[in-house]
Amino acid sequence: MIPFVDLKTQYLSIKDEIDTAVLKVLASTQFVLGNEVKAFEEEFASYCNADYGIAVNTGTSALHLALLAAGIGAGDEVITVPFTFVATTAAICYTGATPVFVDIDPVSYTIDVTQIEKAITERTKAILPVHLYGQPADMEPILDIARRHGLAVIEDAAQAHGAEYKGQRVGSIGDIGCFSFYPGKNLGAYGEGGMAVTNNPEYAHTMGMLRDWGQERRYHHVLKGYNYRMDGIQGAILRVKLRYIEEWTEARRRHAAQYDQLLAKSGVGIPAVMPYSRHVYHVYAVRVPVGHATRSPQRDALQQSLQEQEIQTGIHYPIPVHLQAAYSDLDYKQGDFPHSELAANTVLSLPMYAEITPTQINTVGESFQSILQGVTV
Ligand SMILES: *Cc1c(COP(=O)(O)O)cnc(C)c1O
Repeated sequence: MIPFVDLKTQYLSIKDEIDTAVLKVLASTQFVLGNEVKAFEEEFASYCNADYGIAVNTGTSALHLALLAAGIGAGDEVITVPFTFVATTAAICYTGATPVFVDIDPVSYTIDVTQIEKAITERTKAILPVHLYGQPADMEPILDIARRHGLAVIEDAAQAHGAEYKGQRVGSIGDIGCFSFYPGKNLGAYGEGGMAVTNNPEYAHTMGMLRDWGQERRYHHVLKGYNYRMDGIQGAILRVKLRYIEEWTEARRRHAAQYDQLLAKSGVGIPAVMPYSRHVYHVYAVRVPVGHATRSPQRDALQQSLQEQEIQTGIHYPIPVHLQAAYSDLDYKQGDFPHSELAANTVLSLPMYAEITPTQINTVGESFQSILQGVTV
């Protein structure tokens, strides 16, 4: 069995350091925020080339606080993509603002920058690009549009720890960058976690208060805040893991290159790497052409055949947010975002994690060839 992700192998490779770090927190009883979280904020912000890091309980909370810090609320509009994890849209809705969708570019799967300006109204307050699968959105035109229209730019970097746009780490390119440390992310906690990074001291101060009940000091609540604090244990674990992220990212990139080579002639589309980007392959998604000679519908049949050969895959994401029942009140319909809809029907994510072996990747490649030729080994 080749799993889609394997959290255990990684844990075992750093077990001693992790166990020691966790025991240290238990002994210190700094269970919520505390010194380990503070040190992790500094280290992760520095990794992103940002001045400040605000550690929170989830990536969704980071997005929520970033939007609030940028002054977004009821009556405002925030431009984002429908081809993303639902949290991007949910965070906008938490503030009372309205998500306004722009389709993706079908090659990069990130926001189509040529379609942003026509979505801007007098209510628009921010653009929220998503660095999907670990590849940065095209930030230069986004920043340019934002500057001309006086909009904030909040990066959803939940899948893109260490990704670079023209040599600059994501998260510190827009006004605020938001990361998730959900266990399966490129930098994963052993529980939930998130962080907002920024170079803006006011945003940092506001988010720091909002995550901890809006307190300026204890029991002095100057803002209506939230309980979005990070656990001490997660901070300690993430500090250990941050020391390995470059090594793990390079491993992901090697695995992607091996997949690229194996699948180049298979008939499925391999992920495009934009000339501006350092892709960190949170997800390695191939594209199954609609008319390919496998069973129909092709993508789901391919996934099923791989499963029969004990290869686990995923679909990120099968239904774009504008077609989700929960967001039917946004009044979008089928056909509104054709590139997002086509991607939802044709992408397939292959096993990808730092510890997957070249032999396992070869096995995936061979299974692909045999299935696509209609022959099962
Ligand atoms: C994981 C993810 C989030 C949310 O992060 P959580 O830590 O699960 O709340 C937001 N946006 C994207 C694109 C994600 O992949």
